[in-house]
Amino acid sequence: MSGLSIKLKTPHTGEYEQPTGLFINNEWVKGVDGKTFEVINPADESIICSVHEATEKDVDIAVSAARKAFEGEWRKVTPEQRGKYLTKLADLFEANTDTLAAVESLDNGKALSMAKGDVAACAGCLRYYGGWADKIEGKVIETSHDTFNYTKKEPIGVCGQIIPWNFPLLMWAWKIGPAIAAGNVVVIKTAEQTPLSALVAANLIKEAGFPPGVINIISGFGKIAGAALSSHMDVDKIAFTGSTVVGRQIMKAAAGSNLKKVTLELGGKSPNIVFADADIENAISWVNFGIYFNHGQCCCAGSRVYVQDTIYDEFIKKFKARAEKNAVGDPFHNETFQGPQVSQLQFDRIMSYIEEGKKSGAKIETGGKRVGDKGYFIAPTIFSNVTEDMKIVQEEIFGPVCSVSKFKTKEEAIAIGNNTTYGLAAAVHTSNLNTAIEVSNALRAGTVWVNTYNALHWQLPFGGYKESGIGRELGEAALDNYTHIKTVSIRLGDALFG
Ligand code: ADP
Repeated sequence: MSGLSIKLKTPHTGEYEQPTGLFINNEWVKGVDGKTFEVINPADESIICSVHEATEKDVDIAVSAARKAFEGEWRKVTPEQRGKYLTKLADLFEANTDTLAAVESLDNGKALSMAKGDVAACAGCLRYYGGWADKIEGKVIETSHDTFNYTKKEPIGVCGQIIPWNFPLLMWAWKIGPAIAAGNVVVIKTAEQTPLSALVAANLIKEAGFPPGVINIISGFGKIAGAALSSHMDVDKIAFTGSTVVGRQIMKAAAGSNLKKVTLELGGKSPNIVFADADIENAISWVNFGIYFNHGQCCCAGSRVYVQDTIYDEFIKKFKARAEKNAVGDPFHNETFQGPQVSQLQFDRIMSYIEEGKKSGAKIETGGKRVGDKGYFIAPTIFSNVTEDMKIVQEEIFGPVCSVSKFKTKEEAIAIGNNTTYGLAAAVHTSNLNTAIEVSNALRAGTVWVNTYNALHWQLPFGGYKESGIGRELGEAALDNYTHIKTVSIRLGDALFG
């Protein structure tokens, strides 16, 4: 690996070996153009290292490696063996938790305890899909006595997968798990802000015994490597998690090339609705977790909080006190809940939304400013006195910023909850079962949480209504996005046609 890995240190693990190359065909290689790019530590703005950059030519090479694996060795691998590879990979994730989590915290800025949670969820997800690999089955369908019909679920083929920077490892596992279980091969492009943990995990792919070319991992920029992957004529499917703006571009690229299958998991502006009959202390904890978990960098963040008018004043007072208790700081400190935003660009975007909110007349209850003078830290921010037409209520901020406003009736709560172009998630807090079910049914969102938030689990499908996406990840549902149904119809008997 000479020249394609370096020794780095994290405060949690001490020294470790960081791969920096492109992982193609189970080998570490440099990009054809010899380009590299710098990776920044968001907690102190220092340069961690440089990694090799994939350009169009490298995407071609990775796609051919994947194609060769798909048409060759990988086809002969039994479903049971695919499951074993995934299960082994899950075991290796667990065995390497400390290093994977520390690299994630270093590169992304999330608190180490949260990064460890992500690694555990990666292992859970990979093991779950390992279990699915030999349970993907077709049907026998009877139409008449002289025909025998059956369906088979076949892999789609070479899958391009483009992942974001907010959960670099978890999105990697969400993408690899169902794709591999169903017998596909993949080329994954990580986000340019956070390439490091996926490269560490690439070594585990080799260790788990996957044949060369089945899982390829490249670092690179969206407009270059991402665009090349989504418009590639030999990629059969593209799966993307990221912003709605880029999701549209990916769909256009797929439409303008070979009409590859598309799944998109995009943005959100999720409502978090608190009724007066809710347990207020619990509701506040979940509202706090709903928006500030992962520094607000969650597509399902509960960024629009709606509180029934009779408890509004008490709610604001207590929520403000709760948000001010969140420990913001060094991701490697034990007590830290919220680390830095991922990049200068994200920091600037969030701060400009905060300015925009102030200008439009919203009131800052708490936060609204940077924390410290180094690193991209932003104080947990609550806006009140907002109206539905404000940008901060309509647009995804992707930071630790929420708006709180009042509603009177259940009907009003449903109407404002649905007053968005997005539809990824929503939550309802109430002690009344009828309210919980009625409101959950009426909300146009892929996931509705009741008296909880961010209760994601690899067994539960996740994805968006409206402009939050197409298709579902996780659960059995994700397998549908990675399989083609083939219908085989056999004419029985010897009757002549016509
Ligand atoms: P954000 O705006 O939060 O950075 P993006 O949606 O831009 O999120 O990025 C998510 C992923 O999409 C990253 O891996 C990024 O490199 C990739 N990406 C960005 N632009 C494009 C594009 N035009 N085509 C394909 N992928 C892209």
